[in-house]
Amino acid sequence: MSVKYVDLHIHTRCSDGVVAPEEIPHLAFEVGLEVVAITDHDAVDGIERAFAGNGYDGLEIVPGVELSATAGGADVHVLGYYIDWQDRTLLEWIAFFRQKRLERARRMVEKLRALGMDLCFETVLEMANGAAVGRPHVADALVKEELIGSYGEAFARYIGYDGPAYFPKVAISPAEAIRLIRGVGGIPVLAHPGTVQRDEWIPSMVRDGLMGIEVFHPMHSPIVRRYYEALAIKHGVIRTGGSDYHGEGRGRAQIGCECVPRWMAENLRNLKENW
Ligand code: AMP
Ligand code: FE
Ligand code: FE
Ligand code: ZN
Repeated sequence: MSVKYVDLHIHTRCSDGVVAPEEIPHLAFEVGLEVVAITDHDAVDGIERAFAGNGYDGLEIVPGVELSATAGGADVHVLGYYIDWQDRTLLEWIAFFRQKRLERARRMVEKLRALGMDLCFETVLEMANGAAVGRPHVADALVKEELIGSYGEAFARYIGYDGPAYFPKVAISPAEAIRLIRGVGGIPVLAHPGTVQRDEWIPSMVRDGLMGIEVFHPMHSPIVRRYYEALAIKHGVIRTGGSDYHGEGRGRAQIGCECVPRWMAENLRNLKENW
């Protein structure tokens, strides 16, 4: 009997990933995954397209999203699973976030230009090609215009959280993100808490309806993973995990690389079924 794994955190070209959503089922099948969740930043248009690409029996695609909230000045990401991705209110919020992302990208271009980089906003739009615009597209544009040597250099020198051209996103609170996800039947899960280290917000997020914590993530060392496993158990919320796959040239994470056990997807599905 072969061991089966799942991957509950995947980005596509609809946000800042590089793979078309139609291609995800194929990649997932190739590495033997049983369940994958599409979790684009402020985008749900990849969900239907991933379903359309799924010709595999025994591969489940979970509709999801990754929203950004702000807590104590830090970027806190909240994943939403089994959302009703066609809900009008959700789509209106997503349109709002995307508009704000556009304005923010423009501000980052202005900052880069003030730093002497001859970058056009149009190049950023071209790199995003209709997706929810993020810093990765700004990085792509800087590479395209040969203003920097590599994608990673953009974050290291300019648009990382402490960089001179960083500009924050629209601030909704974690409670608002949780409410929005639950309002469309979704299971809210705190994404990669080890990357932001704002654990003091976790108890209030649980009170506000958080239902899970992502414990398997490429940025979590084994010790950090165990720490969040214990925290999830303590708070009585489920544990999830995923690769945060964005595709080639976007970090080292490969689809399925976290070997997330199947029971994590089963717990998620049980929560939805017993909603
Ligand atoms: P944004 O949502 O526009 O703030 O962009 C965040 C995205 O940028 C993350 O989801 C990653 O895909 C990418 N990212 C953030 N920090 C880095 C980094 N240091 N190196 C490479 N990519 C990064
Ligand atoms: Fe991303
Ligand atoms: Fe994230
Ligand atoms: Zn992500």
